Parts: sequence; C-alpha cells; structure tokens
Amino acid sequence: MTPHPRYPHVFSPLKIGNTLVKNRILMGSMHTGLEDQPDAAERLSAYFVERAKGGVGMIITGGIGPHPTAGYGAKLLDDKDAALHRQVTEAVHAAAPDVKIVMQILHTGPLAGTADCVAPSPVKSRIGRHAPNELTEEGIAEQIAAFANCARLAQQAGYDGVEIIGSAGYLISTFLVEKTNQRTDQWGGSWDNRMRFPREVIRAVRAAVGLDFVVIFRIAAMDMLQGGMAWDEVVSLAQALEADGVDVISTHFCWHESFVPTIATMVPRAAFTQVTGRLRKALSIPVITSNRINMPQVAEDVLARGDADLVSMARPMLADAELVNKAREGREDEINTCIACNQACLDHTFTGKLTSCLVNARACRETEIAVLPAAAPRRIAVVGAGPAGLAYAAIAAERGHKVTLYDAADEIGGQFNLAKQIPGKEEFYETLRYFARMIEVHGIDLRLGTRIDAARLKDAGFDEVIVATGITPRRPVLDGIDHPKAVSYVDVIRGKAPVGQKVAIMGAGGIGFDVAELITHQGTSAALDVAVFAREWGVDFANHPRGGVTGIEPQVASNGREVTLLQRKATPVGQGLGKTTGWTHRLTLQRRGVKMVSGIEYDRIDDAGLHCRINGEPVLMEVDTVIVCAGQEPARGLYDDLVALGISAQLIGGAFEAAELDAKRAIKQATELAVAA
Ligand code: FAD
Ligand code: NAP
Ligand code: SF4
Repeated sequence: MTPHPRYPHVFSPLKIGNTLVKNRILMGSMHTGLEDQPDAAERLSAYFVERAKGGVGMIITGGIGPHPTAGYGAKLLDDKDAALHRQVTEAVHAAAPDVKIVMQILHTGPLAGTADCVAPSPVKSRIGRHAPNELTEEGIAEQIAAFANCARLAQQAGYDGVEIIGSAGYLISTFLVEKTNQRTDQWGGSWDNRMRFPREVIRAVRAAVGLDFVVIFRIAAMDMLQGGMAWDEVVSLAQALEADGVDVISTHFCWHESFVPTIATMVPRAAFTQVTGRLRKALSIPVITSNRINMPQVAEDVLARGDADLVSMARPMLADAELVNKAREGREDEINTCIACNQACLDHTFTGKLTSCLVNARACRETEIAVLPAAAPRRIAVVGAGPAGLAYAAIAAERGHKVTLYDAADEIGGQFNLAKQIPGKEEFYETLRYFARMIEVHGIDLRLGTRIDAARLKDAGFDEVIVATGITPRRPVLDGIDHPKAVSYVDVIRGKAPVGQKVAIMGAGGIGFDVAELITHQGTSAALDVAVFAREWGVDFANHPRGGVTGIEPQVASNGREVTLLQRKATPVGQGLGKTTGWTHRLTLQRRGVKMVSGIEYDRIDDAGLHCRINGEPVLMEVDTVIVCAGQEPARGLYDDLVALGISAQLIGGAFEAAELDAKRAIKQATELAVAA
C-alpha cells in the first residue's frame, strides 16, 4: 500500500551502512522489566512482534548489560544468554522480515545500584546508591573487551546491530565529564583523554562485528549538567566516533541526575530536535533524534526541517503498537497517543514494577491480555464515559458486543475534562480524541446528556450493565465547610467559583498540585512553547553553554497569587506524586512562591479565613478562598439502585474504589474486565 502522502519523509527508506531501514521511525530503547521475567523470551517476543507488525522501521531493545558490574537488568555475557536473544530476534524477523532489531548495550556504571559498581573515578552520583569503585587500567581494558564481546554475541543472536549508550550518567558518559572523571592517567584530564574510553569501545566493537552490522552510539547532545559537556566537545566526540566506525549517532538529552525534565508531559513536543539538527550539520552519517515526539505529524515535521534522519519514538510505541501503520494508512486519528505522564512506564521502571502504559493496559502484557472476538455478542450498557467507561466500551465493542454508552455530561471524558485544562496537561485532549474516534469506529451507541437511572436501565433489558459513574469530591466534616470562602476544585477548574488573591488549598494530592498550578499560572503553558519551557528550566538552546544549562536559578512566571498547599500527614508535601515527575511539580510551584505545609489540623473556616493548628499551635490563615481538594468518594448511587431492583451490575473505576484512583488503574481494570466479557 502506498504510504499516506502526508508523511513523505517518514516513509522514505534509509540505507545505514549495508542495512536498509524501510522508514524513518524507530522504536526507542525502554527497560520494561520483561527481560527479567521467567518467561522473558516468550513475553519479549510477543511485545516486539506486535510493534514490528505495527510498522516501525527499526526496534531498539531495552538495555542489556555487557559485564557483571553493568547494573540491574538482563546481561548478555555468554552463549547461554545469547540463546534467549535468538528466540526474540527470530520471532521478530519471522513476523516482519523488513523490520530491523538492534540491541542496546547498557553499562550503568555508577548507577548500577550495587556495591561493586564502577566508574572512572569514585564520584557518587546524586541519584546513585553507592560511590563507584575507580576502575584500574586493567579494569578499563576488561570493560572495553566486555562491550566488544557483548556486541559479538548480539550479532550471533541474530540482531541487526547494537546501540551503545554513552549518555544519561551511565558508565561511558562518566568518562566524558570532568566532574565524574578526575583521573590523571590517559583516561582523564584533557578532552582527548576523556573521550578515549568511548572511542576505544567503538573501535573494539567494530573490530568484533565487522562492517555489515549496524553500530549506533547514543550521545548526550545536551547533558543538562552544570559543568557538563561543551558543545564543541559534543561535536568533536560525534565526529571522532564517526571516524572510528559508528554508523549512526543517536542524540539523547540529559543525565538522570539533572534538574531539567526532558520527557514529562510539561515538555513541549520535539523540544530538543533543534540540537540534533545542529549536530547533524557537522556529521556525514545519519542522526537520530528523540524526546516528546508522539505523533506522526511531529515526526514528519522534524524530518522535513532537516533536524534528523530518523526519529525515535519509545513510549508512543507502548501506547499504540500500530502507530506507524495507522500513519501510513492515514488513520492517525485512531492513534492512542502517549500523553507523557510516565505513570505506568518510567514510574514503574524506577519502582521495580513491570512497565505498562496508562492509556494501553495491554502494553507488556501481550501474552496475558488478548482482545478476541466475543464468543456470544451481548447488549451491554456502560454508564459513565470517563476513562474507565470509555476503555471498557471501546474494547467490548471492538470484540463485537453491542454497547450503549451513557453520560450525564454533554461530552465524553469524565474527570479528564478537568485534567486537560491544567497547564502542562494539554496532551490529555489526545486521549479524548482517541476515544471519540473509537466510539465511531466500533459503532458504540453514545448517549450524552443522559443521566440514566436504574428503572430505565431495567426497562431497556440489557444483558449486562457496567457502572462507571466515577466519584464525588469529598467534602470534609469541618465547621464552616459551607462558608462561601470554601469552594470545590471542580468549580474552580470549571471557572465557576471565584478565587481570591490569598488562597489555601486543603489537600495536597495530585489534584491539589494541579489546582495550585492552575491558579498561579501566568502566560502561555510551557508545554506549548519551547522558549517558555527553556526559560522556566534554565536551558539555553541558542548559546549552548556547558551542559546546555545557564546555571542561573530559573524564574517561573506567576500571577502573584499567594497560595499555600496543606496536608494533614506529617510527610513532605508532594511525596506521593509520581516518582519521575513529582519533583518537577514541586520545583515549579516552589519557584512560583507556593508554600507547602504538612502536619496541619483543620479547625474551621469563617469570615477571617482558615483556622488550623500547626504543631498544636493555633494559626489563622487569613485567606480569601479555601479550595477543597480532599480526595473523593465512589459515586455508587446508581449501582445501589440497580442492586435494589435485582439487576446485576459491575463496578469499575472510581465507582468501584475511589481511594488512590487514577486513570491508570481505571483503564487497567476496565480493560481486564472488557477482554473477559
Ligand atoms: P470519571 O472520570 O469520574 O467519570 C465518570 C463519568 O460518569 C462522568 O463523566 C459522569 O458524568 C458520569 N456519570 C455519573 N453518574 C452518571 C449517571 N447516572 N448517568 C450517566 N452518567 C453518569 N489521573 C491520572 O491518572 N493522571 C493524572 O494526571 C490525572 N490528573 C487529574 C487531574 C484532575 C484535575 C482531575 C480532576 C483528575 C485527574 N486524574 C488523573 C484522575 C482521573 O481523571 C480519574 O482517576 C479518572 O477520570 C477516573 O475515571 P472514571 O471513569 O472512574 O470516572
Ligand atoms: P489524593 O491523592 O488522595 O489526595 C487527597 C488529599 O486530600 C490528600 O492530600 C489528603 O491528605 C487530603 N485529605 C483526604 N481526606 C481529607 C479530609 N477528610 N479532610 C481534609 N483533607 C483530606 O486525591 P486527589 O488529589 O483528589 O487525586 C485523585 C486521584 O487523581 C489520585 O489518585 C491521583 O493519583 C490522581 N491524580 C494524579 C495526578 C498525576 O499527576 N499523576 C494528578 C491529579 C490527580 P491528608 O489526609 O494528609 O490531609
Ligand atoms: Fe506514555 Fe503515560 Fe503510557 Fe508512559 S504510561 S507510555 S508516558 S501514556
């Protein structure tokens, strides 16, 4: 089939050495945890085969360690390890012979998390568990040989190439930066000495694999470290590696320990590709760009601008394995877009859980969750078109059930309609666009503006009723909770409640933080403007100082509101936010002057403000508005009425359990039920 004319650059093949890549989209490397499962070969095969059939030109696997000190995760050290990899490469090549699969070699160096971790110098990373052991000359030679051995084994295992990661604060990159390389021998000191290690690794790898095997090097084009790599160092390293035999340079942004978000949802789409574009001009081999490229049009624009030869999309392939096919066929409105929330992917990786995806609960569970035609199609009513009801309805209808979807509101989305209005969460619109399209594609009978009750459901005689009616915001029992100063977050986000100059936010969960963002925000959302983003995070794209960062404390525009975020728990405010994104929210609000107080006891609200106690001492917060963000209770009224009428129904999402409910859990639960319906 001829590719859709909207994407001429995406669908033009590219020759890398002697390897032909059929299009310009590759699936970037992600550690999923599948590598460590007892049935890893089967699960990895299913996971990669689905993406290969989905149309990507090239797949890069999660990082595989070349040496026992390489850190957590799977290793490829000998022929026995290679056998597992062979099963995966054979499965991918059999399913999609024109798709290339490349294995990433990852040595995490000082981030290995074990006491035997190694680095050029014993400098502990801010986020490392141990100070690394300084490598001896012999140790360095052993590591170089290990990279070469690992690449040779990857070739034997049937991969089309290897990607060597030389960024992110992992072993190779620690040789490059003065702060982590304090050696005075031939491996440290001058720039030529500091880049000796990656160069020797590449030479050894190339010698081990010959010329007909793709070798990619992932470079930190902007490491976001004060005192990090200077731009001329980035360029000279890339040029030296090209001379040493690298086929492709892949650009990476930031070390894990830096203080600049580079993939979270508040990062603008394709924010960093301009840096790849500059590097590309200095090289004659292809370059790959990445970060927040989540839709085919973004990839097409990046390629058309000449910023890169190939575009890496990693998380978007978790969200939708068929992304590339859908683009090729002009069905991009059917793409389940990655919203860059990190909630089920990176947050899981960094808390030792199996990776998945908030918007696609099947990701990494391909062998467990199958969407198969229903044995006996039934008439199903789904009440509530929030994330839970939408996910259930879409999958049940895809399976052939006849689904009627009710919502009292005049739009689908439930609480996602509030979430999407928070500056930095604009991507949430995409999820609603996806579900709106699924309603059309699968012929779901959508009844908006319909607050359905139990009697009508009974009369309609459905075979099954799914209650996805969500939540009601909790109204704490407190003197003065009905005072005009006390307003609900729902009314604030909808613009229905006035918010004064001095504000207390009661409750500092995800919604408390989002509301603080909304009511202190000034100007264009950083997620929509690279210049605003750069200013808010101290990134200097124009001059590219060392690391790409200015080192000056960034200024985040604020509308001047005085806001205090409150919680009763004694733990630090914001501790429960996402592992990989919570710090960005805390930092942004702190930079806007938002105060955060924990261990508070609420007494009452009156004309004077919010009366409370901190450490037992009475305190009056003289605020104009108290915004209540105190969690939720399940909305079960309909369910109780159905039960009273003797109609069996299933609860999902917030209606099932409101405590700690997020869209990840709502969609996962709905998916698991719908595939079994
Ligand atoms: P809801 O989204 O509450 O949907 C329930 C639906 O049922 C509503 O549309 C309602 O109109 C309808 N309904 C109720 N009763 C009836 C009836 N009798 N008849 C017809 N229709 C009815 N989660 C995350 O994972 N990540 C985030 O970043 C995130 N950010 C958020 C930000 C904000 C500001 C808010 C408010 C929430 C956020 N959430 C986030 C939470 C997430 O939106 C919820 O967990 C999710 O929406 C719950 O889905 P649900 O389908 O169970 O319920
Ligand atoms: P939440 O995370 O449970 O937070 C509720 C807050 O209210 C807590 O700070 C809690 O802290 C306080 N609280 C609870 N009961 C109270 C009471 N009776 N009186 C006063 N305070 C009370 O819930 P949420 O913020 O409403 O968020 C709902 C869900 O949406 C969450 O599960 C969250 O994961 C999800 N969400 C996620 C994001 C994200 O970015 N990932 C963003 C928004 C929402 P104390 O009990 O210590 O006071
Ligand atoms: Fe993207 Fe969120 Fe899914 Fe991760 S969990 S792949 S960030 S949508």
